[in-house]
Amino acid sequence: MQNHETFEHLLMKAVDKELDPSERALLDEHLSTCAQCREELADFQRIKESTDALGGRIMQDAKIIPPRESRGARRLVWLATALFLAGFAILLGIAGHAFLTDGEVPTTIKVAVSMLAAGTVLLAGLAVYQRVRGIGRDPYEEIDL
Ligand SMILES: [Zn+2]
Repeated sequence: MQNHETFEHLLMKAVDKELDPSERALLDEHLSTCAQCREELADFQRIKESTDALGGRIMQDAKIIPPRESRGARRLVWLATALFLAGFAILLGIAGHAFLTDGEVPTTIKVAVSMLAAGTVLLAGLAVYQRVRGIGRDPYEEIDL
């Protein structure tokens, strides 16, 4: 039998109704023999009920509708991002080359604009990298109790 600590992330997923059938079966089998995890599940459910009620009141007070991105909307965001980045890269390449080879522009201006462009590309790249890195991760695995 596995240690009940390995089931903590399954307990959190259970509370959020995010378990897949195999995880559900694994957890149910463990819960049938582990009083500590049954108590912990009950605690998590009480906490979720409280926070959900609180969240509902806050949303009602603020009249905010929580965003829900559909799969199609996410694909559109990815397509738009890819088009934007491709267009940006092409423009940066052409404009950068024309700018840097222009003999009338002072070298200090060329250096400053180059640093600005490099910083912008690095920041944009970092944002894309962080977004891509988060895809497919199970956020429940990252919660450290
Ligand atoms: Zn347990």
